[in-house]
Amino acid sequence: MHPMVKPALRRGWRDLNTVQFGMTPAHALTLGPVDTATGSFLDLLDGTRGLGLLREEGRRMDFSEGHVDRLVRRLSRAGLLDDSRGGGPDADALREKPGVLDRLRPDLASLGLTTSEPGEPLGRLAARRSMRVQVRGAGRVGAALAALLAGAGVGDVDVRDVGRVEPWDVVPGGLPVDSVGDRRDEAARRVVRRATPEPPPRRPARPPLGEADPGFSLVVLAPRDDVAVHAPDPAAAEALLSSGTAHLYAGVVEGTGVVGPLVLPGRTGCAGCLQQDRIDRDPAWPRLVTQWRSGRQRRVGACDLTLATTVAGLAAAHALAFLDGRSPTGAGARWEVSLPALHWHARPVRPHAACPCGAAEAGPVAEPREGENKGKRKHTSEDRRPHETMAVHGSSKQWRRQADTERPAGTWRAHV
Ligand SMILES: [Zn+2]
Repeated sequence: MHPMVKPALRRGWRDLNTVQFGMTPAHALTLGPVDTATGSFLDLLDGTRGLGLLREEGRRMDFSEGHVDRLVRRLSRAGLLDDSRGGGPDADALREKPGVLDRLRPDLASLGLTTSEPGEPLGRLAARRSMRVQVRGAGRVGAALAALLAGAGVGDVDVRDVGRVEPWDVVPGGLPVDSVGDRRDEAARRVVRRATPEPPPRRPARPPLGEADPGFSLVVLAPRDDVAVHAPDPAAAEALLSSGTAHLYAGVVEGTGVVGPLVLPGRTGCAGCLQQDRIDRDPAWPRLVTQWRSGRQRRVGACDLTLATTVAGLAAAHALAFLDGRSPTGAGARWEVSLPALHWHARPVRPHAACPCGAAEAGPVAEPREGENKGKRKHTSEDRRPHETMAVHGSSKQWRRQADTERPAGTWRAHV
């Protein structure tokens, strides 16, 4: 092990013997008491020295026997240490590609904030390279979202859609103006190739549109049709549910951006659960949906450019969190934001007993432990207050609390 204090966390002395790692409440921790010598020793934990060399340095600094090991162990248990040589064979392979790694350095540093084991940040980043994600829909949201996933290191991002690129599909970061008139799926795949930090691996022939491929780690449904965003058709996800493929909804309808739910088949609420819940609440819902679906397609619907790219970004973040083995708040909820106030709020998508997906039979689910990729969330107080804002920082505080409970007592304490 070549210990390295996580570079993403800025360090500062709160007083003469207390060090604070990090600035933001979501990820900051304090360490104390720390004497001056130990404080300066922290500078040696930069990933260039192995434990043997560090022990030698410790002896030179008159540290007591075992002090260096204890320090490294405690920093490691607090999640403050990375290992510049760790992460396993996939991480080693990625280290062999400095050009690719340089593109992803900020993402690697960011993974340091959400992982705890030394070597895990690069291990997770390397794991993204073998992930396969399909994005269905290559409009303003879908194309940008696909590019973001590819740019963040997801190895195989497949995009599906029909028709040709229209002038209003063009967005910065998505379909470029010179693709207008081209086949939409091909143009979107070019966008993906341009965004990826390394050439994609050779792929087998693609299955026809609408057919679920069990090989996908995640399928993102980003329809260009606003009715499909507002009232996702459960039939469109049947094959995904039966194959157990996790899928995420994202899109813009009128002046509202939607991210979620992230559906973990049989475990969290799906499009069918959402539909059943809406029928329970509003008897006119089926009649309205039928009219919306059969209505004449408007040539160009509303889709604010900034809202579309915001949705693409947040949806990609939820997708990545899931792919990285986390349980983002999109599991069991639809995050919505509307122009012009732009308050984000989560509307719960509860498993419904009448939905054949089986999530309701799975029963109440336990709160996930940090790092668990179960996506099981207990529905909390926001269920009863669907119109109130649950700010994003609120949920991260919840994460913090979960993380803190796993931290050792003693001189370690979470900075609040
Ligand atoms: Zn369901």
